[in-house]
This record gives sequence, structure tokens and C-alpha cells, in this order.
Amino acid sequence: MITAADFIHPEDAAAMAQLENITGFPTFVKKILELGLEKMQYGINMASAIRLSPKQLPKLYNRLPPICEKLGIKEPEFYLKMDPQPNAWTFGDTKPYITITSGLVETLTERELDSVIAHECGHIMCHHVLYHSIAQYILQGIDSLGVLGVGTIPIQYAILYWYRKSELSCDRVGCIITDPETASYAEARLAGGPASITKDINLEEWAKQADTYEEIRTDGLWNKALQVYAIANQTHPFSAVRVREVLKWSKTEQYRKIMEHLRAGSSSSRCRECGNFVSDSWEYCRHCGTKLK
Ligand SMILES: [Zn+2]
Ligand SMILES: [Zn+2]
Repeated sequence: MITAADFIHPEDAAAMAQLENITGFPTFVKKILELGLEKMQYGINMASAIRLSPKQLPKLYNRLPPICEKLGIKEPEFYLKMDPQPNAWTFGDTKPYITITSGLVETLTERELDSVIAHECGHIMCHHVLYHSIAQYILQGIDSLGVLGVGTIPIQYAILYWYRKSELSCDRVGCIITDPETASYAEARLAGGPASITKDINLEEWAKQADTYEEIRTDGLWNKALQVYAIANQTHPFSAVRVREVLKWSKTEQYRKIMEHLRAGSSSSRCRECGNFVSDSWEYCRHCGTKLK
């Protein structure tokens, strides 16, 4: 089994420590929790999305259990929502659940989808979900209710900053469950469109855009503009930066060790016929029907 400490991105850990050290942060969190939004969100999701299960769209559902097993986490509830925009998110602190959109399923190959599902499971492993949910409330305009107060704006900003950094840790989980190329391709599709358009994308070239971006970013004026942009809805780091980070990390000793450890622990976790991930409790591969035991 692996733990969050094995792969957490240093910028995530640093931003989290900074956030939790802000005076008034615990009170802020408590204030939000008292609003009971988690229950409301869960209800909305239950009413508007389709809950995937062995009896409901099993082909899609079956991608989840082997990933959870490999990562050693309890299986969260899993939902599909009609939305042409490719997206996935994890919500709920006491009972986390993952929702993916129909646009995501259409844009990605099955393996790339595994990488995104693994990314979401990463948020559960890292205990990101509570603060993520709070970040979502902020983005959805919770403050227009006037419940948080002007004094909490620096805290809100710090949460959104950490939110972007937290993505870098979870991209690593996508890379652990699939491989660096698949995780990067998933990111490329999300930036440039489905495989029919981005099939031949040159990942290295694209990752280079992150360096160019870095040069622009260090320019003082841009930095200022970015701060405004960051507050207004920019929740994820730029995709080229994410690809560069994941490709860089996949060449480290840390990544090699995790992969070696996982291979030693679960050599049987892939179907020999179709190559998809399978759960140890399955008699038959639920992707292709091959007998596993
Ligand atoms: Zn994420
Ligand atoms: Zn199979």
C-alpha cells in the first residue's frame, strides 16, 4: 500500500501548511461547516446525476474498484453527470463521492479515464476533500450570502492558491495508476480536445510551453494580472505546467520506488487478456469476461 506521504507534491504540502497557519482559519472552516452545505450538495448530486454501480452502467463503474484497491482506499460513491464539458470532481468530507461528466468519458480513452479517476481518488487519499469543497463553495459565490465577512478574503485567496497546488499531487496518482504518458495525454485532451484531434500531439513540445509560460509569469505585471485571474475562478494550474511536472516526477527515484512497490504487491491486478485493471475479488474480468481465477 502507498500513502499520501509517498507522493505529495512539495508545493502542495507548503501551501497547505501556510493555509492552516493563518489566524482565523479553523474558525473559518467551522463557520462554513455549520452551514450544512455538504448535505445540500450531496442531495443535488443525488437528484441530478446517475449513480454508477454493478447494476448501473457497469462498464463505466467497473473502472473504479481496481483503482481503489490498488491505492488502498474505501470505494467512494461514483456518479455520471450529463455535461459536454469534460470534468471530474470529488465532493463531501464525511462521505466523499466522485462525479465525472459525459464530456470526460467522450474525450478520453478508457486508460486516460483511469488516470483521471485515480487523480480524484488521490484527493481522497490526501484528505484534500474538505478544503476542496470549501474552495468550491467560495467559487460558487457562497460569500454573496455575506456569511464569511470581508476579513476572510485573504483566507479565501489562500484556499484557492492551495487548491491549484493540490492538483499537482493528484496528477502523480494518475501517473502511478496508469503511466506518465497516459496521464499527460489525458491532460492534453482536456486542453486540446478528444483523441480524434489531439492523437498526434507532441507532449514534449507542449510541456515546453510551460517554460515559456514561466518566463511570462515572472514578469511583474503579469503576476499582478494573474492574482486577479486566480481569484476569479482559476482553480487548476495551467495544463502545460501539469504535464511538465508529471513528466519530470516520473523520472525520479521516488516514482520508480512506488511503481516497484506496487508491482511487487499486486502482480495479478491486470487482466492478461485485455490489459485493464481488475479487482482481486473478481472471478471474471468485468471488462472483457476472461476468467481470472
Ligand atoms: Zn483534482
Ligand atoms: Zn479483461
